Amino acid sequence: MATHQDILAGVVQKVVEELMGKTSSLPEDFKGIYDRVEDAVENAVKAQRELIGLPLKVRDKMIAAMRRAVLDNNQMLSELAIRETKLGRYEDKIRENILCATKTPGTEDIQPLAITGDDGLMLLEYAPVGVVGALTPITNPTGTFIHNGISMVAAGNAVVFNPHPSARETSTRIIEILHQAIVDAGGPVSLIAAIRKPTLDTARQLIAHSKINMLVATGGKPVVKVVLSSGKKAIGAGAGNPPVLVDETAHIRRAAECIVNGASINNNIFCTCEKEVIVVDEVADSLIKFMQETGRAYLLSAEEAQKVTNLVVNEKGKINISYVGRDVQVILKAVGIEVDEACRLAIFEAPKDHPLVWLEQMMPVMPIVRVKDVHQGIRFGVEVEQGNRHTAIMHSTNVDHMTAFARAVQTTIFVKNGPAYAGIGLGGEGHTAFTIAGPTGEGMTSARSFTRQRRCTLVEGFRII
Ligand code: NAD
Repeated sequence: MATHQDILAGVVQKVVEELMGKTSSLPEDFKGIYDRVEDAVENAVKAQRELIGLPLKVRDKMIAAMRRAVLDNNQMLSELAIRETKLGRYEDKIRENILCATKTPGTEDIQPLAITGDDGLMLLEYAPVGVVGALTPITNPTGTFIHNGISMVAAGNAVVFNPHPSARETSTRIIEILHQAIVDAGGPVSLIAAIRKPTLDTARQLIAHSKINMLVATGGKPVVKVVLSSGKKAIGAGAGNPPVLVDETAHIRRAAECIVNGASINNNIFCTCEKEVIVVDEVADSLIKFMQETGRAYLLSAEEAQKVTNLVVNEKGKINISYVGRDVQVILKAVGIEVDEACRLAIFEAPKDHPLVWLEQMMPVMPIVRVKDVHQGIRFGVEVEQGNRHTAIMHSTNVDHMTAFARAVQTTIFVKNGPAYAGIGLGGEGHTAFTIAGPTGEGMTSARSFTRQRRCTLVEGFRII
C-alpha cells in the first residue's frame, strides 16, 4: 500500500515534470559530462527539481551509493590522480578518498530545528539553494568532488563542476562514478555534472549563468576573489600558509613525529599541511634531532638549503610549480642530493625572512625558524599566517600558551598536539571537509553550508506540553 509520503512525492514529481520537462533528451549512456555549460546548467535545474520531488530515503540511498562507489574505485582513482597531476602520493590519495567518502556528513547535517512556545511552533528547515556552480583545485582532484558532491546532494542541490583544466581526466572519471552511483540508487540523471574541457572561459560562463544559484570556489586567492565579485551567493575556500608553533613545554619527540607526518602527507599539497615550523630556541635542537630520528626527515645543510631554494623559488619570487607536490627524492635529486626511499620531508633552518616561510610551497620542503620565546613565536605565527584565517598548529602542554596563540591567529582550524590533518578529521574528531571556507566564514563546509534557511510558523498550535 502506498504511504502518505509516497503519494506526496508522486504529486510533487508530477508538478515538477509538467513545469520543467524531464532530462530525457540525454543519451542512454549519459555519464554526467557536458561539452557546453548551457546544457549542463539547464539539465541540472531539471535534475534538482526531480530530486526535491523524491523521498529523503532515496537521497540517503544515493549518498550511500556515492560513498560505496568511491571506496570500490579508490585504487583506480588514486592512480589516475597521481598519473595525471603528478601531485601527491598514492597511499595518501587512498587515505584522502576514504576520508572524504566516510566522514563527509549526509542528510543528518540538515536536520530541522523546531521551537515551541506560548505562540505556537516555529520550524526552521535547511532548504536547497538550487544549482551550485563549483570550481575545483588541481591539488585534490578526487577529494574535493567527493566531499562537495556528497554535501551538495545531501542538501538537495544539483551541482555543475568546472574542474581544474590540468586534472580533467581524473575529474571526469570521478564525476562519471558519482553520477552512475546516483542514478543506480534511483536518483535523477545529471544531478551531478562536469564540463568535459574546462577552461577559464567555461568557468566564466558558469559563474555568470543566471540559473546558477550559488558559487563555490576551492582554490587560490584570485578565484575566491572572482566568485566573491560575482554578485551571487558564494563560498570562497582559499589559500593558507599554516604555521606550526612548538614551545618549550611541548612533548618534543611527539611534536617532531606529528610535524613530519603532517607536513609530508600527500607531499604537502593539502592546504592545511604545516608549511613552516616556528620553535622556541631552547628546544629547537631537540626538535630537529627528533625529526631526523623519525628516519623520514632529511636535514639540509645551509648550502644545500640555498640550492633547494634556488630550485623551487623562481626569479620572480614565486613557487616553481614544476616541484609542487613532488616526492622529496625528485626535488633533492635535482640539486644532486640522494636520500633513501623512506625519506618524506626535507627540513632546514631558515631566517624569518626566508621566502619559503612566507610562500605556500605545497611541497615536502620545510623551513624551521627559531624564536626567543613563545610570545615572539605567537607574534611571528600570526604574521606568517597572513590573515588567511586558514589553519595553525601548536605543540605545547601550557593551556595559556595554546589559548593565546589560538586567539591571536584567528584561523578556521587550530590543531593542538597533533598533525595538521587531524583538523580535517584524519585521526582527529569531527567531520571532514575539502572546501575549508575561511574567507567567507562557513569553515569546514558540509551539507548545511550549501543551503538556505526557511522558516515556517504555526500560530498557537502544536505545543504539546
Ligand atoms: P587555482 O586557484 O589555480 O584553481 C582553482 C580553480 O579555480 C581551478 O578550477 C581554476 O581553473 C579556477 N580558476 C582559477 N583562476 C580563475 C579565474 N580567474 N576565473 C575563474 N576560474 C579560475 O588553485 P590550484 O592551484 O588548483 O589549487 C591550489 C590552491 O588551492 C592553493 O592555494 C590551496 O591552498 C588552495 N586550496 C584551498 C582549499 C580550501 O579548502 N581552503 C582546498 C584545496 C586547495
